[in-house]
Amino acid sequence: MTAIETIKELFTLKGDLLESAARSADFTDDEALLRSVAQWAAQRCAENAETVWQEAKVLVAEDWLDLSLLRDFLEIGLKPWKFYGRIFGSNEQYDEWRRTRVLITVHRGAKQIGGSITEISMGRTTVLVDCGSELPGSRGSVRDEDIIKKIFDQHRRYTDHQLSGVLFTHYHGDHAGLMEKIPSDIPIYMDEAMRKILRVLHKHTGNTAMQELLADHSGRIHTFTPGKLFHIGDMNIVPFFVDHSAYRATMYLFAGVGRTILFSGDFRSVGYMGKSVAIIPKLIRENYQQPVDVLLCEGTMLTRDAAEEQLLTEWDVKKEATDFMRDRRQIFVLCSSTNFDSITSICQAAQANNLPIYGSDYIAEMLKTFSAMAGEKMGLYGLPPVKSIKEFLARKDGEYVVLLGSLPGRGKEKAAELYRNYGKGKREYRPYLIYSLWQGYLNPRHPAYDEGLATFVGQFDGRFKYIHSSGHADRDTLAKFITDIAPEKYIVPFHTEKAAGFKELAIEEKYRDMVILPEDGDTIEIP
Ligand SMILES: [Zn+2]
Ligand SMILES: [Zn+2]
Repeated sequence: MTAIETIKELFTLKGDLLESAARSADFTDDEALLRSVAQWAAQRCAENAETVWQEAKVLVAEDWLDLSLLRDFLEIGLKPWKFYGRIFGSNEQYDEWRRTRVLITVHRGAKQIGGSITEISMGRTTVLVDCGSELPGSRGSVRDEDIIKKIFDQHRRYTDHQLSGVLFTHYHGDHAGLMEKIPSDIPIYMDEAMRKILRVLHKHTGNTAMQELLADHSGRIHTFTPGKLFHIGDMNIVPFFVDHSAYRATMYLFAGVGRTILFSGDFRSVGYMGKSVAIIPKLIRENYQQPVDVLLCEGTMLTRDAAEEQLLTEWDVKKEATDFMRDRRQIFVLCSSTNFDSITSICQAAQANNLPIYGSDYIAEMLKTFSAMAGEKMGLYGLPPVKSIKEFLARKDGEYVVLLGSLPGRGKEKAAELYRNYGKGKREYRPYLIYSLWQGYLNPRHPAYDEGLATFVGQFDGRFKYIHSSGHADRDTLAKFITDIAPEKYIVPFHTEKAAGFKELAIEEKYRDMVILPEDGDTIEIP
C-alpha cells in the first residue's frame, strides 16, 4: 500500500496502527495534524514526506478527507461502533460501499428529551424517523432551524442518497413539530389516526401550511396499517401500534441488507393499550425469524423522578378521579386534548358520578374524531357526550366537569382572566381542579416552567388534585422490554437526559455491554 492509500484507509485502522498514527500526530492545528499524518504514512511506506503531504492536501481540498473527523478519530480513539467516514475515490465507489451498509445517526435526542430526529440507512435507502421540535425550555445540542438546514442540505449533496422518506411515530410536537419544514419532494409516512388527529389540531391552531400538507393534494403522505409490512427501497418496515400518551403511537421494525433494527418511539405500559409492549416482542419473534440487531430505545424516565411521577395506570386515574368527584361536584380538568387515554379515564369517572361534561368546540371535535376511530369499536374507549362550553357559561349553578385541554401559551394575566371568566354569573364559584399533566410545568426551577399554567392552577387555592399517568416506560418496563426483545448487537438510547442509566437497569450483563452512548450527530455503523 502506498502512503496516500494508507491515509485513505486511516478510518479503517484499528489497534496498534491507529495508536501509532495517533501518537505521531500533532494536534495543535489542522495544518500540523495533516502534516504529521502525512509524515507518519510516508515513513511507514518509505516515501517522500513532502510529496505525500501535498497529495494529502488535495484530498482535503476535494472534500475526501475531513480534518475535524480525522482529529476526532485520532483523539477520541476507538469507539468501535462509530462510523468516522471513509475516503473514496469517487461517488461510484462510495455508492458501491454504501450498498451493503447499515448506518444509524441520532441527529438529536442522544442527550435530550424531545426534538427527536433519527436517520436510518440500509443499503441505498435512507429515511428519517420523526422530525420533532424541541420541548419548551429545552437546551439541546442543535436549535430547530439549524438542524433542519444541517440534515436536508447534507442530503442534497449526495444525489444518490436522497432521503426516501420521513416516518413519524406519533403526533406529539417533540416528534412531529418540524414536519412542515421537510422539503416538499420527500414522502411522509404516518398512521392514519395521526393524520386525522393532526388535521383537527391544525384547524384549531390555524397553521395553514400544516393544513395544506395534511390535506395531501399531491399524494405525498403515505398511511399504513399497524402490523402490516411495507417497503421503502431496500427497507422492509413493519409498524406496530404501541401504548403512549398519544393515541396509536408507532414502533417501527426495519429490516434490510441482512440487519434488523427496532425503533421504540415513545412508549409506556400503563395505558389502556399497555399490553402492546409485551405483545410486540412476541410478534417479532413469531413472524420475523431474524433477531433484532439494534434496539433504539427511549429513556425519558431515567431522569424523571419515578417517585414524583407516581406511576399511575389509566385504571388508577379512572379510580382516583371517580373517588375525587364523589364529594366534589364542580370540577375543571387540565389534561391534553389529545391524551385520549386520560380523557377517557376522566370522562368515564364523570359518567360514573352522573356529572355532565363540558368542553370547547375544539375538544368536542377532537373527541369525536377519536371516538370514530376507537370508541365505537372498543368498549374500553367508550365516551359519554361532551356538551358545549357555551352551555356551561350560561349556567348559574349546578354540577359540572369542564375539560380545559392543557392551556398552552397563555401568559399570567390571560390565565387569571380565564379563571374569572368561567365564574362570571355563577351563584357560587369554588370549583376544584384535576391536574392531569406533567408536574414539571408547575416547577419554577424547571426550564419547562409554564407561568400561565401555574397561575391558573394557583387560582384554585389548594382545591387541587394531581392525577396523572406518565406517557413513558419506567425502569422496570424498560428492563423487561429489552429482555423480551433480546437485541444482539447494540442498544442505542434516545429521548433521554441520562443515556448511561440504561447501563444500570436490571438487565443481563450482556445487554448492559450492548448499550452504546453516541453524541448527537454521531453515526453508528452496524457490523
Ligand atoms: Zn417525546
Ligand atoms: Zn410523545
